[in-house]
This record gives sequence, structure tokens and C-alpha cells, in this order.
Amino acid sequence: MPTVITHLAIPLAVGLGLGRRIVPGPLLACGVAASVLPDLDVVGFKLGIAYAADLGHRGFSHSIVFALAVALIAATILRSFRVPWATSFWFLLFALVSHSLLDACTTGGKGVALLWPFSGHRFFAPYQVIEVSPLSITRFMSDRGIAVLLSELYCVWMPSAALGTLLLGGRRLICCFVSNHRSSRP
Ligand SMILES: [Zn+2]
Repeated sequence: MPTVITHLAIPLAVGLGLGRRIVPGPLLACGVAASVLPDLDVVGFKLGIAYAADLGHRGFSHSIVFALAVALIAATILRSFRVPWATSFWFLLFALVSHSLLDACTTGGKGVALLWPFSGHRFFAPYQVIEVSPLSITRFMSDRGIAVLLSELYCVWMPSAALGTLLLGGRRLICCFVSNHRSSRP
């Protein structure tokens, strides 16, 4: 997997880029949490669940069905915070699926069980460009950790920052166009 903190980059970039009117604070916080949620499956290692098992790391919690179920439930809860259901659903689904897709782009471990429960096959992206992060802190605090962070910087943080800036710029441009259009009305 990429490091946990790198999974936050994508919902943060999109949420901040779209702005508070579209992605309000509570939804952004939930999106950030959703982007790391699938990796709670690492408790399976402590419980003796095999990596390759459906309940193992990168198993069911990295599937599209899991993402749909979590997005559906969380979007329903977020309605009590006056966040429109559809906005919450799509943003959370995006955050959850982005986690699995980033994992699929890593250079190691097993692929992700995207199609569970219909298939237990572990998928990798056609190109694996993100150095896989070691699960042990000791191994991470070495040259290996630096290589991982650098690859995440180039492959995730920089493109996410570019996407966020693009969305922010696009939003400002639309706002500017709309206000000019309104002020030019007779
Ligand atoms: Zn993961």
C-alpha cells in the first residue's frame, strides 16, 4: 500500500478544489476518513487471517461493493448534517475507490479484490508506479522509506495538487463568468 497519509491526498485535493459549498467540512472529513478506511483490514494479520483470504489485507474492504455499501450508509447519516445525499454518496465513493486504485498501482504485495464477492481475484493496475510501503516501521525508517515517499510525492501528491489547483481555478472562472453575466443583465 502507499503510506496511510498519501491516501488522504486525493479526497483532500478534490474536496478543497471543489470548495466548501460543494464539499462542506463534515463531508470532507468523512471523505478523508473513508480514504484510509479499507486498510483497517490489517488487523487481520493480528487475528491470523491470511493475506490472500477474502477477509485478508486488500480483500473485501478494497472492493467496489464495500465502497458502495459504506458510501450509501455514510451518505444517509450525513443527511442529518444537511449535506445533500447524492453529493456525499459520490464523494465518499470516489474517496473509497481511490484507495483501492492507488493500492493497485503499487509495486508489491497482492493486488486488490476489486470484484469481491463476485470474484476473489486480486487486481493490479497495468502500470505499477508507486513503490510499495513496508508494513513494518523499522523497514520504513530506512532508504526504502525515502524511496516510497519520493515515489508517492511524484505519483500521487504532485498530480493531486495539480488536480486541486485545476478544480479551484475552474470554480473561480465559473463564478467570475456567472457574476459578470448577472451584472451585464439590463
Ligand atoms: Zn489498502
